[in-house]
Amino acid sequence: MNYNFSYWEKISFFSADIIIVGSGIVGLTAAIALKQHNPKLNVLVLERGFLPSGASTKNAGFACFGSLSELIEQEKTSGTEGLYDLIKRRWNGLQKLRQLLGDKHIEFNNYGGFELFKKEDEQLTSLCVSKISHFNSLIEDIVGKNAFTLANKKIDYFGFNHISTLIENQFEGQINTGKMMKALINKATASGVQILNSCEVSSFEQGDAQQINIKTQQGIFSCRKLIFANNAFISSFFKDLDVKPGRGQVLVTKPIPSLKVKGTFHYDKGYYYFRNIDNRILFGGGRNLDFKTEETTIFGHTEKIQQSLYAILKDIILPDTAFEIDYNWSGIMAFGKQLEPIIKEIDSDVFCAVRCNGMGVAMGSQTGQDIADLVLSTF
Ligand SMILES: Cc1cc2nc3c(=O)[nH]c(=O)nc-3n(C[C@H](O)[C@H](O)[C@H](O)COP(=O)(O)OP(=O)(O)OC[C@H]3O[C@@H](n4cnc5c(N)ncnc54)[C@H](O)[C@@H]3O)c2cc1C
Repeated sequence: MNYNFSYWEKISFFSADIIIVGSGIVGLTAAIALKQHNPKLNVLVLERGFLPSGASTKNAGFACFGSLSELIEQEKTSGTEGLYDLIKRRWNGLQKLRQLLGDKHIEFNNYGGFELFKKEDEQLTSLCVSKISHFNSLIEDIVGKNAFTLANKKIDYFGFNHISTLIENQFEGQINTGKMMKALINKATASGVQILNSCEVSSFEQGDAQQINIKTQQGIFSCRKLIFANNAFISSFFKDLDVKPGRGQVLVTKPIPSLKVKGTFHYDKGYYYFRNIDNRILFGGGRNLDFKTEETTIFGHTEKIQQSLYAILKDIILPDTAFEIDYNWSGIMAFGKQLEPIIKEIDSDVFCAVRCNGMGVAMGSQTGQDIADLVLSTF
C-alpha cells in the first residue's frame, strides 16, 4: 500500500506504548486511567467512526443499577452474592464517572427511576412488590436506605394509562449522554491521550521485539500492549468469546409543552425504557419482539419495533397528550450469559474489556479502570 506518510508522520503518529481499539466509555476511561497512572505512557485510541460508533453516544443516559424486575431475573443468574457484587460494581462505576467528569459536565440529575407495571401483569407485579424489602436490605450498604418504594400516587400525575403499579427507585438518575462523551473525549485529550478517528482496525499480528502490529485502512500501527474496547464488534477478532450483539432502537419526540414525565422509566421487565430530555420523551427498546433480527452489529430500525414504540407512547405513556416523533436511531450493545464484563488478557500482550450488558453508563468507567490496572500490572 502506498500511504505516502512522511518520516515525521510515521515517527509521531503510528506507534504507541498502548493502543486501544474503540473510543466508547470503556476505551476512553481506560486511556485516562493509564495516563493518570503514568503520564509518560504514550496512549493511542483508534476509533473506526467519525464519532464513537457503538453504544456510548447512542444510549438513553440512565444512571441506573437495575429495575426491580431486572434484579429478580439477575439474582436467578448470579445468585444473591453475585448480584450484590454486580450492583456494587454498577454503583461504584456511576460514582466514578460522576467524580471523573463532574455532575455539571454530564448533566447528572437525580430525578429518580420508576418501573411501570401493567394492570394485566398481576403475577409479576405482586412478585416485584413482595421483593422490595429484600432488595432494599440487600443494597442498603451500597446505595443507602429504602431505595425502592411504591409510588402509585404518581401514576395519575405522570398521566400513564393501563398502569396499576409504579415502583420508584430514589437513587436512580439520568445524564446527558452527549455531554458525558464530549467531556470524556476532552478529558482524555487533555491527559495527553491521542484519539484518531475514521481508523478501523482490521487485524493484528505479533511482530518482532515484543511489538504488536495493527492493520487499519489508514496504515499500520505498532504498540507494546493492545486493548480491545470495541464491545459488540470484538467477535470478528475473537470468535470464541461469549459476546452477542444486541441492537437497541430509540426514538425521540418533538418538544412537548408542559411535559409532566420526569425521570427514568422502565417498562415490560426493562425491555422498554423512556425518560425526559429537553421537554421531549426519549424512548427505546422492543428487542424482545424480535431477538433474532436485533442480534446484529448493523445499525438500523424495523417497522415492527418502531410501531410498537409508537403504540406504547400513544396508549400508555402519553395517552392524553398530542406528540410527534422527531427522529430515530439505533446503537449496538453487547450481551453474554454472564452479567459481568469480560476483562482479561486474551493473547500475549493483547487484552479486552467488553460486554457491559447494556449497562455501560454504570459499568463502563469501572471496566476501563480495571483493564488499565490489568495492563499496568504486566509491564
Ligand atoms: C440504545 C441504547 C441504550 C442504552 N441505554 C443505556 C442506559 O440508559 N444506561 C446504561 O448504563 N447503559 C445503556 N446502554 C449501554 C451502554 O451504552 C453501553 O454498555 C456502553 O456504551 C458500552 O461502552 P463500550 O465502550 O464498551 O462500547 P461502545 O460504546 O460500543 O464502544 C466501542 C467502540 O469501538 C469502536 N470500534 C468497533 N470496532 C472497531 C474497530 N475494528 N476499529 C476501531 N474502532 C472500532 C466503535 O465504533 C465504538 O465507538 C445503552 C445502549 C444502547 C445501544
